[in-house]
Amino acid sequence: MKNNCVFCAIAAGEIPSFKVYEDDEFLAYLDINPFSEGHILVIPKEHYENLLDVDEEVLKKLIVRVKKIARRATTALDADGFNILQNNGEAAGQTVKHIHFHIVPRKNGERLVFENTSGDMEKLKALAERLKF
Ligand code: AMP
Ligand code: ZN
Repeated sequence: MKNNCVFCAIAAGEIPSFKVYEDDEFLAYLDINPFSEGHILVIPKEHYENLLDVDEEVLKKLIVRVKKIARRATTALDADGFNILQNNGEAAGQTVKHIHFHIVPRKNGERLVFENTSGDMEKLKALAERLKF
């Protein structure tokens, strides 16, 4: 596995993912252990460890993708809002060392603990279909 990195393997198509967006340089897919319904991860296909490490031109394009995908998720899921999370370093809870932005759709009144839940694969598959560009 390139860079010994699970997200590089997803980008290379070596392991499956529930893709919602893809272009030449970027990819977005559902988090398999979502905080909320429609929790999406957005990554550059190229490997950078974190925000301090990422090329600035790549970062600019990446955040524009985050906005585009967040808009799509908000519309498709009829969400009332969303959180963007981006963890850097183990101390901050980063478990996969390939930069990624989390998009966590939110509903009015929904109580949410930012903790991974056990993903239902059938539900994730159906959700990815709804969210796909
Ligand atoms: P972080 O804690 O910011 O590093 O977030 C990593 C996220 O990646 C977690 O929320 C995991 O549930 C998620 N994750 C790990 N492996 C996969 C995978 N193969 N497909 C989708 N999401 C994954
Ligand atoms: Zn990687």
